[in-house]
Amino acid sequence: MFFVDVILPIPLNQTFTYAINKDEAAFLKPGMRVAVPFGKTKIYTAIVYQVHDQAPSGYETKSIDHILDRVPIITNVQLKHWKWMASYYMCSVGEVVRAALPSAFLLESETIVKLVANKTIDQETLTDDEFLVYEALLQQSSIHINGIRSILDRKNVVSVIQKMIDKEIVEIEETIYEKYTPKLKRYIKLAPEHAAESELKALLESLSRAPKQREILMTYFTLKSQSPKPIEATELQKNSNASASVLKSLVDKGIFEEYFVQKDRVEYSGQSTQGIKTLNEGQEEAYKQIKTSFETQNVVLLHGVTSSGKTEIYAKLIEEAMASGKQVLYMLPEIALTTQLIARLQRYFGETVAVYHSKYSVNERVEVWKAVLDQRSKAQVIVGARSSLFLPFKNLGLVVVDEEHEPSFKQYDPAPRYNGRDSAIVLASLHQCKLIMGSATPSLESYHNAKTGKYGLVELKKRYGNVLMPAIELVDIREKSKKKLMTGHFSDRLLEEMREVLKEGQQVILFQNRRGYSPVVECTTCGVAPQCPNCDVSLTYHQYKNQLRCHYCGYHIAMMLNCMACGSQTLDTKGFGTEQIETELKELFPKNKIARMDQDTTKGKHAYLKLIDALENQEIDILVGTQMLAKGLDFRNIGLVGVMNADNLLHFPDFRAHERSFQLLQQVSGRAGRTEKRGKVLIQTFNPYHQILKQVSVNDYEEMSKEQLQERYQFKYPPFFRIIKIEFKDKNLTRVQNASFWFAKALQSKFGENILGPEQPSVGRVRNKFIFNIMMKVPPTQALEATKKYISNVERSFYTIKEFVSVRVNLDVDSY
Ligand code: ADP
Ligand code: ZN
Ligand code: ZN
Repeated sequence: MFFVDVILPIPLNQTFTYAINKDEAAFLKPGMRVAVPFGKTKIYTAIVYQVHDQAPSGYETKSIDHILDRVPIITNVQLKHWKWMASYYMCSVGEVVRAALPSAFLLESETIVKLVANKTIDQETLTDDEFLVYEALLQQSSIHINGIRSILDRKNVVSVIQKMIDKEIVEIEETIYEKYTPKLKRYIKLAPEHAAESELKALLESLSRAPKQREILMTYFTLKSQSPKPIEATELQKNSNASASVLKSLVDKGIFEEYFVQKDRVEYSGQSTQGIKTLNEGQEEAYKQIKTSFETQNVVLLHGVTSSGKTEIYAKLIEEAMASGKQVLYMLPEIALTTQLIARLQRYFGETVAVYHSKYSVNERVEVWKAVLDQRSKAQVIVGARSSLFLPFKNLGLVVVDEEHEPSFKQYDPAPRYNGRDSAIVLASLHQCKLIMGSATPSLESYHNAKTGKYGLVELKKRYGNVLMPAIELVDIREKSKKKLMTGHFSDRLLEEMREVLKEGQQVILFQNRRGYSPVVECTTCGVAPQCPNCDVSLTYHQYKNQLRCHYCGYHIAMMLNCMACGSQTLDTKGFGTEQIETELKELFPKNKIARMDQDTTKGKHAYLKLIDALENQEIDILVGTQMLAKGLDFRNIGLVGVMNADNLLHFPDFRAHERSFQLLQQVSGRAGRTEKRGKVLIQTFNPYHQILKQVSVNDYEEMSKEQLQERYQFKYPPFFRIIKIEFKDKNLTRVQNASFWFAKALQSKFGENILGPEQPSVGRVRNKFIFNIMMKVPPTQALEATKKYISNVERSFYTIKEFVSVRVNLDVDSY
């Protein structure tokens, strides 16, 4: 008798044992997938963990349904890494598996499949089973895998579906992921029958009576002679001053052909178009220090001011790793915001660069997965968000973690609640390769680790090309209000500088940390503010749609004229958001082009890219935005950055608020003046004497970190103490209260004052579920393993109590 232990993608922390025959036992390797029955009706795709001949005692094993892979699609290093993640972040390996694998690899009974749209299928090539599925899908458009079981009248259907997916006949329906469809650009080329040189003259002559068409044709040849690049329709029109209809008539005549290409695929031809840059003296020195540091350290922190040229140093390290045939992982906090960087890496490394992130379709992710697994050169460098560390690297030579301070490296929900940066360090050590992390404003955790010798530390204090750091000025808006020098939310200083910069043809970025028009609408008669019925927050006014919206659950209603509580017409708006700034700007600067970048204006698939393009092409004079603006963008022509109000950042109730404020303000400031002319930054605030603002204004990271680290030490916060957050959620307030108090008491009996709470967070109810949190501080001297075990035991007893069965408990290690 032989058995296989498998990992199921479910939140139970154990493997499951199934029976296999002798041949299967010889064939199966850890990391292959098998389809297995579970419970009465379920099918899961499971990962082989180990094969053995020890019959489990106490229950009868079921057999596996069938084997899905010929070779493992998951490596041993991955399994090790995922086990570490599960244990460190207190979840099941199955939950890690679910986060790690593209869902096309994890077919299960609930999976819904449908036909790939607009595809002609040669029915001759289908097997009988495939034909039955195909026929059924023609009629029903989508079917559960369980439904397919009854169509085929047998249990083992996963491999049939898997094959149909591989043949691109069916695909699985994606509900969670937004489908990524790159924008199509329209290009023009000469129809092949006219492409010969000799044709040209005849062609021009034939158009002698259509001068406008002739003009387009001439322009086409001029552009063609200047560069071999494909010619975009809009470019052609613009250069020949022609209308779309004239161009169309040439297409109709069959002289031109139009074709469409995905924007991000055409921008580089597949070849690297330039070598990496030669480092300047400072960069060269930093590079050497990194290399020296790597002799004794596995992790090095590169602390370089904004625009110091960190990326070029990474490029050099990447080039080196690639030269020895190794794979490289380049991790970024949010991939959507980094098209600029991807384009840059593609220029250097051509089609060896592959991008991986959750906005891509399942098919695209599967493609990258397989390319990495087979060590194909087209995926030698992976650029991705945190989930890219789940890829099946075989030969990893370097990991880069860019903008390492960004909180979005941490996953909140669902489990695994992992930190991408920290998990990457473990990944690198499993591959015995080096990791370089970089930031202009390192997280206090990383900086502390570097200062205490756990990581190497290399600093880069000058901007590339000796561009000066922007001059930062604090504007006291309390004072300005008193003196009546405010116009709306703009001080006279800010307006003055804006006018100056705009007059010189430079651009302005305005930063406001809130979207919407104004966060809260309040009745000045009775003081009532309209609340979300599902969450404990006030609704936010959005002027554009004249709506009140909840930023937590999306609830919205039309803005009312009368107060719902007292009926008076004295509703007033307090505070302000990006939309309101935009409205004020339109009155103050009627002649300038104004745009807004926040979650509301970047919802559309490529809205964000469009805004960046427009800013780069100087089609926008003033851009108002939220912290999206702070994410590593490199613009040439920003003369001024204005921060509308720094105070709401500083007063956020979180022990990281000061650190975060410093980082955000420095990063936003860093967008100013990246060329010869020194950029300016104006920060409006009610507290110009606040330590953090002073440190921002003189660029003093050193001082900031010293002070903040002292506070963290004193108040027992990271990086000195670890934090484990335990979150309780339930529909019933009393129940969740009782549950969290019970849990806290159980922990307090062991850990005493290091257990804080339970407390209701500032937003105490979301989507109709009440929330309570316990925060646990783990002293450096306290064994982490044992602590977690204790928590798990408490959790186990907790769930034996009937009243608490419905309560959700979420564990968040190193919570952010
Ligand atoms: P950081 O990543 O530190 O913010 P970047 O690497 O984006 O800085 O560099 C800022 C700008 O300076 C970029 O436009 C980059 O192309 C340019 N630059 C940096 N180093 C060099 C170099 N050695 N040669 C030419 N240009 C460089
Ligand atoms: Zn009222
Ligand atoms: Zn809500």
